[in-house]
Amino acid sequence: MIIGAGIGGLSAGALLAKKGYNVTILEKNSQPGGRAGVWKKNGFVFDMGPSWYLMPDVFEKFFKIFGEKPENFFKLKKLDPSYRIFFEGEGITDIPSDYRKTMELFKTFEENGDKKLGLYLKQSEFLYKESLKHFIYRDYRSFKDFFRKEIILNGPKMHIFDNLAKFIGRYFSEDKLKKILSYSIVFLGGSPKNTPALYSMMSYIDFKMGVWYPMGGINELVSSLVALCKRHNVKIYYNQPVSGYKFSDKKITHVKSGKKEYGADLVVVNADYAFAETKLLPEKFQTYPEKYWNKKTIAPSAFILYLGIGKKLKKLKHHNLFLEKNWEEHFEEIFNKPSWPANPSYYICAPSKTDPSVAPAGKENLFILVPVSSNLKDNVKNRKIYRDKILKHLEELIGEKFIDDIEVERIFSINDFSTLYNSYKGTALGLSHMLMQSALFRPSHKSKKVNNLYYTGQYTHPGIGMPVCLISSQIVSEMIESDE
Ligand SMILES: Cc1cc2nc3c(=O)[nH]c(=O)nc-3n(C[C@H](O)[C@H](O)[C@H](O)COP(=O)(O)OP(=O)(O)OC[C@H]3O[C@@H](n4cnc5c(N)ncnc54)[C@H](O)[C@@H]3O)c2cc1C
Repeated sequence: MIIGAGIGGLSAGALLAKKGYNVTILEKNSQPGGRAGVWKKNGFVFDMGPSWYLMPDVFEKFFKIFGEKPENFFKLKKLDPSYRIFFEGEGITDIPSDYRKTMELFKTFEENGDKKLGLYLKQSEFLYKESLKHFIYRDYRSFKDFFRKEIILNGPKMHIFDNLAKFIGRYFSEDKLKKILSYSIVFLGGSPKNTPALYSMMSYIDFKMGVWYPMGGINELVSSLVALCKRHNVKIYYNQPVSGYKFSDKKITHVKSGKKEYGADLVVVNADYAFAETKLLPEKFQTYPEKYWNKKTIAPSAFILYLGIGKKLKKLKHHNLFLEKNWEEHFEEIFNKPSWPANPSYYICAPSKTDPSVAPAGKENLFILVPVSSNLKDNVKNRKIYRDKILKHLEELIGEKFIDDIEVERIFSINDFSTLYNSYKGTALGLSHMLMQSALFRPSHKSKKVNNLYYTGQYTHPGIGMPVCLISSQIVSEMIESDE
């Protein structure tokens, strides 16, 4: 039995069913995909969460298990430019998909910027490849698993103990370049100062592997996982919020949803880990009780606008980032002094620039995301103030009026993450990736108190992001098989 049909639950379902298990997935909501769900209105199709298809090699490896390729399910397009950055008061920079052109670009910002980027990317590539080989595709059940020979020998070279901001500062002095190399850390729910330099591997992923888009939208990936589940006879039941279990000794025997009880030999939870531990289990069976979560650094939530615009907007590319000059202030407002960011950096996605199927002809599909602390008062009044503030800023940024052309609009923020996904404190991403919340230190794939209870998805190792959620399921499905 699997609880939750997010990327983690669907991938675990398909993998376990392929191994011969009889799998049922119970999903609280009316559609699959979890945070990668979709919202459709008046001809606009919005991916509700993820929009960057990164690490294509990891997707390929996953589909290969089923004798497939991602392209057998959806057409992948490499975006060029990969994305556009609006630097506050300092113009626009497009990041080309060809990294050699990016090196040329870096030279225009800083003396020897090209050579420095070459060195930086060499290091970043080393980190990515070593991590995939030794760290990412494996489980950590104990300290012994973590402190293995390869890790001890490679540890210093992996820059586990440096922070990303310091590490980048050793190569570059120009502020804009530092930002280009560290913006993606927000995707991991952290800031450059609280994330290990190991994650500089994101730049190799970004510049060398490129930014991809599945035509039809990210939800095509979800549909492909559902198709793999169906092929292996996984049963998926929607509108089935799980509310608890029945136990015999230290084993779950039944999963409860409303008045129904489903018999289960083993349970894999994909629902938010904190919710599942503290709300579905009695205290004596909680490996991670409330006091554990209270001490953790919770990844930011988000203020999101889904907008259907009745015309095209010329200044935008598919992916766009607006980066404030003093972005430190925004990180402070997320991690240290929770408040609605006064001068936020934010992200604008316009998939209709690439994909005609996500908006009616001549119109624009916009997804705007501002990272915010999950510790804020999210009410109608604050939402309205913030919505007006961001839209006014965006109009000025791109020099085009569009507020009067909004045809479809939805705001999604902290409270929605809580109610729709049972997300802990309304976080968008779960647990941040600081050192003490990575690898061995993330919540375990297996309960220490209930013998047949496992976990997959973004709270577990390797962590946040669609590709690594697929890896989490690969780890857990192998673990289940070896535990049998
Ligand atoms: C706004 C946003 C933007 C992102 N951008 C990117 C990106 O560009 N690229 C990228 O790779 N990643 C991105 N991510 C991260 C990525 O989307 C997530 O890491 C990943 O989708 C998490 O998948 P999951 O299966 O762990 O969890 P979820 O998607 O949360 O799935 C868990 C499922 O469990 C269900 N559930 C909860 N409680 C119950 C219950 N009681 N009973 C039954 N079911 C239950 C939920 O409804 C949900 O369907 C983004 C995330 C967000 C929120």
